[in-house]
Amino acid sequence: QQGPDPKIVRRLGNGRVKNIIIVLSGKGGVGKSSVAAQLALSISETGMPPSATSSSTSTALPKVGILDVDLTGPSIPRMLGLDGQQILQSSDGWVPVYADREQRLAVMSVGFLLKSRNESVVWRGPKKNAMIKQFLGDVRWGELDYLIIDTPPGTSDEHISLLEYLRPFSPTAVLVTTPQAVSLADNLRSLDFTRKVGLPLVGLIENMSGYVCPHCEECTNVWGRGGGEALAAREGLKFLGRIPIDPGLVRVLDDAKEEAIKRAKEGAPARGDDGKETD
Ligand code: ADP
Repeated sequence: QQGPDPKIVRRLGNGRVKNIIIVLSGKGGVGKSSVAAQLALSISETGMPPSATSSSTSTALPKVGILDVDLTGPSIPRMLGLDGQQILQSSDGWVPVYADREQRLAVMSVGFLLKSRNESVVWRGPKKNAMIKQFLGDVRWGELDYLIIDTPPGTSDEHISLLEYLRPFSPTAVLVTTPQAVSLADNLRSLDFTRKVGLPLVGLIENMSGYVCPHCEECTNVWGRGGGEALAAREGLKFLGRIPIDPGLVRVLDDAKEEAIKRAKEGAPARGDDGKETD
């Protein structure tokens, strides 16, 4: 095996990106992208997760990047109200799209490369591999406290490429499941993958875990509840928590869209276009 790719080292190495978290799911539709987006948003808006350690002594809010390499259905731009934005090419690589005015949440997605939201990507292995390499080596993130990576469901070529390139930077992973998907072989395959490639799992999140009635606030266990916790216990993983089915999530996404439209009308920058990397 060759040594680390120099372009990737330049972007991610030497402490430029402090923590890399890969978000995985055994199958599609369990909310992996939603969890990745919420994770990125909440870290960038409220600070470090309570258990995280940072070498930074600054009290400033962290800088977060989210990289969406879900070639089969890149949904991060839509979830962050950034649909239709395009990647800018500077002399120093691709400039990410920023989700906030303060430029603390940088976003890069294969979705920004597609002409329309309904276009799909049908690429063979080598092209996918080249795309992953380019995303890791060509994006001008600057310094980041966290890089969250949304991946396709299951374990595919993309995961293998990602892991090969990221191994020198000690990434970790989070597994997302739903109560009804918890017993599926797909989850066990994802777990097996992380063990085979030596990717440490921070823990497991159970999404769509019960439904909280907006009128009486009682939680109904539509598809059962607690299976994720049991799976975590059985497999020796940390259970990070459960997220209920929340009709408000769709509203939040709509609000993000409204905000994006407002921003466009006001002419405020949604991306950093100063033309140089911040060191
Ligand atoms: P995946 O990335 O696993 O394919 P997504 O994050 O795209 O899944 O979620 C699939 C759909 O379910 C999306 O429309 C998303 O808005 C919705 N969704 C995800 N989690 C929740 C939740 N906790 N409550 C309500 N809707 C959710």
